[in-house]
Amino acid sequence: MSDSWLSEVRWVVALALAMLILGLLTGYVALFLLLGVLCYLGWHLFNVVRLLRWFQEGKRFHPPEVRGVWEDVYYNIYRLQQRNRLRRRRIVRMLNRFQEATAVMPDATVVMGTQGEIEWWNDAAGNLLGLRVPQDRGRRIVNLVRHPVFAEFFAARDYSLTVQFPAPVNEQIMLAVRIVPYGGDHLLLVARDITPVYRLDQVRRDFVANVSHELRTPLTVIGGFLETMSEDDDECSRRWGRSLYLMRQQTDRMQRLVEDLLLLSRLEMEKGLHHRDVVPITTVLASIREEALVLSGERRHAIHLDVDPGLQLRGSGEELRSAFSNLVFNAVRYTPDGGDIHIRWYADDAGAHFEVRDTGVGIAAEHIPRLTERFYRVDAGRSRESGGTGLGLAIVKHVLNRHEGQLRIESELGKGSTFVCDFPAHLICVS
Ligand code: ADP
Repeated sequence: MSDSWLSEVRWVVALALAMLILGLLTGYVALFLLLGVLCYLGWHLFNVVRLLRWFQEGKRFHPPEVRGVWEDVYYNIYRLQQRNRLRRRRIVRMLNRFQEATAVMPDATVVMGTQGEIEWWNDAAGNLLGLRVPQDRGRRIVNLVRHPVFAEFFAARDYSLTVQFPAPVNEQIMLAVRIVPYGGDHLLLVARDITPVYRLDQVRRDFVANVSHELRTPLTVIGGFLETMSEDDDECSRRWGRSLYLMRQQTDRMQRLVEDLLLLSRLEMEKGLHHRDVVPITTVLASIREEALVLSGERRHAIHLDVDPGLQLRGSGEELRSAFSNLVFNAVRYTPDGGDIHIRWYADDAGAHFEVRDTGVGIAAEHIPRLTERFYRVDAGRSRESGGTGLGLAIVKHVLNRHEGQLRIESELGKGSTFVCDFPAHLICVS
């Protein structure tokens, strides 16, 4: 760089000297010096124009032959161009490789703008979502994937969720779809074919529902006979009294189990709550309290009810009754004789809340995350003894899911537990 500057300076000095000598010889020093300055400016102007043309042509790779300071200018621009070209080539290669990889991926991948304008998709997306080249480029995904579950999911913009719905191209294919935002102004949709897993789950659900249904009638018959036999006051019932009592107890347990399994299957099969009634929760809770007092019987629990009388909820009365009674009956079953049970039904800014607080045995922290699993019990012996099926909290969780609610559990071993059901404010109905 310094060399070119030096040669430039030498050039200028030589030009100035030449003009000065010519001026002295002819007697027109100022004129010749002006001529020298004009020549020098003209040369720079010529180079500026040449540089602009070089930029505009774009395709010409090598810079033109020049001397002086312009050699440096051209050389540096040329180097910068080379570096950019290399970088661009590397990015294009990477992009091609990424597109090749996503193109062969079995999961459908769609790149979209924030409003769902489709920019790019892979082959699987074409096959599973029915996207066509080129007419679907730029169209909004909600206009092409029209399932109501997807429309609701896309409008909610809760990117932590995964939704399942049948593929637009074939109702027999079940898709699990997620959307992930990236790069600030893009969304990536990933759809996976989960048909085999979905079918297996359906077979399992059908199996449990069918077995429970098939067991219901024989159990009712056996229960009926056992009741009649134990009510008879003859030699046989006196002799078999204890055995008949135990048989009735077990039959009752099996009947409760079958009823709970059937209820769970029903909750699982009916996706989403299509019809919502206005449920008079206050009345429901008053009758649950009466039943809980009967269940408590000789154990004499104090059951307090503190409700907001005008607060109602939109939902399924039968399901909510089942969930609330499971929580209240659990409090009775896991609280020592004479203990306190507080039932609250109230609303605040976050929504409506149903709370059951007891002074019972409590639950160790490590069990709490697993309590809503089917047949998960902290103490299986105690659960069976008190008539539990191990399905109560699983039912509560399903009912809450169907009412957009959540279950919170707080507990301290030996001190008691609090179960709270939170419902969103938009389900509240005030009379
Ligand atoms: P179960 O029929 O066994 O009560 P649930 O699903 O209703 O089944 O409850 C699961 C487990 O959670 C119970 O076995 C019990 O260990 C625990 N549990 C539920 N409610 C309470 C409570 N109020 N206090 C203490 N433990 C409880």
